[in-house]
Amino acid sequence: MTKPRPSFFESVQAYFNKAARHTGLNAGLLEQIRVCNAVYQMQFPVKIGNEVRVIEAYRVQHSHHRNPTKGGIRYSNHVTQEEVMALATLMTFKCAIVNVPFGGAKGGVKVNPWDYSPGQLEKITRRYTTELVRRNFIGPSIDVPAPDYGTGSREMAWIYDTYRTLKGEEIDAAGCVTGKPVNQQGIRGRTEATGRGVYYGIRGACEVPEDMKKLGLTPGLAGKTMVVQGLGNVGSYTTTISQDEGGAILIGVGEVEGAIYKPDGIDIHDLLRHRKETGSILNYPGAKSFPKEERNRVLEFDCDILVPAALENQITMDNVHRVKAKIIAEAANGPITSFAEEKLIEDGRLIIPDLFLNAGGVTVSYFEWLKNLSHMRFGRMDKRFNQNMYDQLVATVERLTGHSLSMQERAMLVKGADEIDLVRSGLEETMIMAYHEIREILKRKKKVQDLRTAAFVNAINKISSDYLSLGIFP
Ligand code: GLU
Repeated sequence: MTKPRPSFFESVQAYFNKAARHTGLNAGLLEQIRVCNAVYQMQFPVKIGNEVRVIEAYRVQHSHHRNPTKGGIRYSNHVTQEEVMALATLMTFKCAIVNVPFGGAKGGVKVNPWDYSPGQLEKITRRYTTELVRRNFIGPSIDVPAPDYGTGSREMAWIYDTYRTLKGEEIDAAGCVTGKPVNQQGIRGRTEATGRGVYYGIRGACEVPEDMKKLGLTPGLAGKTMVVQGLGNVGSYTTTISQDEGGAILIGVGEVEGAIYKPDGIDIHDLLRHRKETGSILNYPGAKSFPKEERNRVLEFDCDILVPAALENQITMDNVHRVKAKIIAEAANGPITSFAEEKLIEDGRLIIPDLFLNAGGVTVSYFEWLKNLSHMRFGRMDKRFNQNMYDQLVATVERLTGHSLSMQERAMLVKGADEIDLVRSGLEETMIMAYHEIREILKRKKKVQDLRTAAFVNAINKISSDYLSLGIFP
């Protein structure tokens, strides 16, 4: 008999409880780390044409052990209080794993954004922001939203503008939200950040020879086959970067309209072009197409790495027996239910968990927030200085060796770092360090058997040390 399906929230709670047992911390402290500290549910009216629509929305601040709290805002018809609570909970642990000094939060607005015009979405966004301001649920030192499913830089610009209209006197107003357009105090590299972080995480995992050997794979991402579910922001950047920089071979893709499979490889740029032209990934030349009703077959394609990059609860007890991938890289939040995960671990699959793997978004959000507080672009102070130093160094080497470099070699060696270079290097460093921290725990603690539990143990320990050294007020 198959077990009933746990909700996303129940899965996150189960993951937490499983890890908590390995920490040796007392029950009261664990309870404080587990629960959502503040849940704000609101209903507000918005005028759409001649009609008044009442919109249901949420902001959940999961943990105040560090401030501000941080996390995206989701626009979806499926938003519920439980879902936002689960996502806010994940944010707390995500931030701790990548050493981003924030507590976790998440927002949700129960609308299907594709049913509204940009003007109507702007009204909804501005009203939602106003509700947050009124309750003190937003601000650079309070709670800092960002994009999530159904939102992007456009919505973040509206949030920023609403905030600064209402709080004009605040010098750091731009730090009230991240993921803003670059020309509106955003940062270069934020749009690609989650996907790029997923790439660094997968690459890092594939570089460990002993882990790959256990899976019957050779080390390195190059040449490994990859299947992706979802070509939204995260899925499209993950695949593009994994193909172009990592040499991975994309062989299957799933989207709302269906799925395609082509074992000899799909060029992602070509596929994105095909989708733009025809409105669908289906009928991509040379690929086998699966219609809309069978789109979840994508999770069952034979491949080395499966990347679920859409929504939660995709791999469940109903389909887990048919999942063939050796590595499952959780680019989305919560794509595997806790029951299905048990089965995958039993089978010896490697799951690279969401709370580590998709933390690149919040990492670069942290860089954006720092940029906003410093009121200056990264690289502005030192780029030229470094360039001049490297220039002199190259000239000295040339003089001493009597050998001169080509214009091209010289340009490469003397380049000072731009904002995008620094953001990418900071993100790469963060993801690699975090992966090895988690893997160390997995190696050291004999009873911990999977990376997700190791990641939760790591995060819970970091958060508990804040509580233990700060004490509890009053
Ligand atoms: N919504 C993203 C996430 O789930 C980004 C959050 C942020 O940048 O604050 O991690």
